[in-house]
Amino acid sequence: MSKIRFAAIAESHKRNSVTIEEKGRRSELFGKNVFNAERRLQYLTKDALESVESAIFSGSKIDRKIADQVAEAMKGWAISMGVTHYTHWFQPLTGSTAEKHDAFFDLLLDGRALEKFGGGQLVQQEPDASSFPSGGIRNTFEARGYTAWDPTSPAFIYGTTLCIPTIFVSYTGEALDNKAPLLRALGAVDEAATAVAKYFDKNVSKVNATLGWEQEYFLVDKALAESRPDIILTGRTLVGHSAAKGQQLDDHYFGVIPARVLSFMSDLEQECTKLGIPVKTRHNEVAPNQFELAPVFEEANLAVDHNLLLMDVMDKMANKHNFKVLFHEKPFAGINGSGKHNNWSLATDTGVNLLSPGSTPMKNLQFLTFFINTIKAVDAYEELLRSSIASAGNDHRLGTNEAPPAILSIFIGTQLSQVLDELEGVSMGKLSPEEKTELKLNVVGKIPEILLDNTDRNRTSPFAFTGNKFEMRGVGSQTNCAKPMTVLNTIVAKQLQEFKKEVDILIEKKNLKKDEAIFNVLREYIKTSKRIRFDGDGYSDEWEKEARKRKLSNNKTTPQALQVLTAAESLSLFKSMNVMSEVEVKARQEVELGSYIMHVQIEGRVLNELMYNFIIPSAINYQNKLIKNVLGLKEIYGSSHKQLAASQLEIIQKISEHIEIIKSKTDAMIHARKDANGLKDINKKATAYEKDVKSHFDEIRYSSDKLEQLVGDEDWPLTKYRELLFIK
Ligand code: ADP
Ligand code: MG
Repeated sequence: MSKIRFAAIAESHKRNSVTIEEKGRRSELFGKNVFNAERRLQYLTKDALESVESAIFSGSKIDRKIADQVAEAMKGWAISMGVTHYTHWFQPLTGSTAEKHDAFFDLLLDGRALEKFGGGQLVQQEPDASSFPSGGIRNTFEARGYTAWDPTSPAFIYGTTLCIPTIFVSYTGEALDNKAPLLRALGAVDEAATAVAKYFDKNVSKVNATLGWEQEYFLVDKALAESRPDIILTGRTLVGHSAAKGQQLDDHYFGVIPARVLSFMSDLEQECTKLGIPVKTRHNEVAPNQFELAPVFEEANLAVDHNLLLMDVMDKMANKHNFKVLFHEKPFAGINGSGKHNNWSLATDTGVNLLSPGSTPMKNLQFLTFFINTIKAVDAYEELLRSSIASAGNDHRLGTNEAPPAILSIFIGTQLSQVLDELEGVSMGKLSPEEKTELKLNVVGKIPEILLDNTDRNRTSPFAFTGNKFEMRGVGSQTNCAKPMTVLNTIVAKQLQEFKKEVDILIEKKNLKKDEAIFNVLREYIKTSKRIRFDGDGYSDEWEKEARKRKLSNNKTTPQALQVLTAAESLSLFKSMNVMSEVEVKARQEVELGSYIMHVQIEGRVLNELMYNFIIPSAINYQNKLIKNVLGLKEIYGSSHKQLAASQLEIIQKISEHIEIIKSKTDAMIHARKDANGLKDINKKATAYEKDVKSHFDEIRYSSDKLEQLVGDEDWPLTKYRELLFIK
């Protein structure tokens, strides 16, 4: 056994006994480190309070004088909590978050020191942003980037730093981050949904998109993780033979959480609670060492921030508990990977969930309106929605029969399918009073308030209606939820806008009553969006064939999936909804393709090193032992040794064969990488990385995993799956 592997295993064994203490009442800790409504009330003047609240609830601007007051108040609170620094916290296109810390500390001209933090520093900052990916935006405009305060997501204290959530934009106004387009999409859906919601209730003046994410992750003992160069550099194992026991016994899912893990979770949840992240459920997931954490849902922008913050807190907390947390979508072959379901709905400022059926026909008509419009939107832009969750890591799930398939479809369950079918059958145009009564009582009125049917869910569906919300299941565990949320809310906004237009025309020009007009348009939508509805097995080959017939996209790889971003239809959608300009969309496509290339490139390099410097030398070492044995037998037994050494000779030969395959495939991969690097066009380059470079990974891995089975355990250099995967 290599020294590194041996030391890692010894180290991990030390950590088996832990004590768990669940500290304090959650509700008392909640938001302790957040400049939330309670703090605002306590620290802000009346003017400042009004100004900030109106910025939060209606998007109004905060003027500079008020910003100074807010900054002063935040500083006072932060210093009382032992804070020394502040940072603008933002989401560059790399997918994670970034921060640059500045001390409150400043010097006056006369040399006296003081703590300083004014409105200027609160509202705007200029990070040295030249090394964040911008997809060419900064070159095109020769503009520097700056961060700007997002007052809708409250500042929070993390460690000894006051973190201020911000957007990151260029001086010419292009978004260089994931938050700015999200905020614009949320604004668009607010406007469009509010206008439609007013058909049903004039008092609605704002609609918020809501998001409840469910974060899956793996934990690996830190020492063991660090013994594997692939885990450290790529976040996943590039080789490794399956452990004799995987997830086939289903004994991990919802099983007893190991004590060591529970101790980590308890500390993690305490920290999250202080940060205002409303964590609620925790449990084991399907695969060994796999877990899930989910909060109570929140307004989408805040939920996105909280998910990003969670991932960061988790990483640090894991380290403290001698774990490494893996957010990669597929850290281990042969067992389940990780995703992040995005539960989504729309909520009015009058407290109504627009995707929740109600107790009266009118409430149900409102429900049906938002329900059917969402279906219609996803049908129209299914490929675009698919593109929003494309990444090198997620390619291991989508399209490999593990997470939902790469084909987008919607599951609504038998009850609602029946309602839509019946509605579709109603005659067009003006309704007689009898028809109307019939429709209201027997179709719309039949939708129960609680859709029990949908609790029995179809787990293979990528977009499922689960009773009072839609659940998007294909999101990768590492993905910034801002990306799918931007697309989903934009397409629903666009669709609701269309809907309103069509209904108003029927009311004004065709003299239909409001509810008749709504029925007419919805019925049309039911007909034209049928192909996206599918309640069957999303993993089956039949569905793949059927989906092709229905002309649904089936983009299994990231380079393929990203193409649609710059299709004329997508560009005009984002532009017309004021979510992203053509330049911004193109920049995102470029950044995503670049990131894909980088990920595959790094994996290729690591695999190369693993083969040449770890696997091949170890296999040769072991083979030499066998050769020595065969030669010894020959010395003792002369020519009859061949029979005695038959097994050894067979293993010797097999080892050579696998070494030969590994070497030739690795060399072919290196060549392909060099060729790909020579390509100028980023689309072609990404495709070459997918088709010519990555395509070798599995072949190399196959022989490496065979060697793992042949080579004596003592000689094997890499920590094995069975050592990595079973935390006690
Ligand atoms: P699961 O999918 O694991 O069975 P649940 O159905 O209980 O779990 O809920 C999943 C998530 O859905 C939770 O994080 C919850 O906060 C979220 N959720 C519930 N209602 C809404 C809503 N109206 N909008 C957005 N998310 C919601
Ligand atoms: Mg779920």
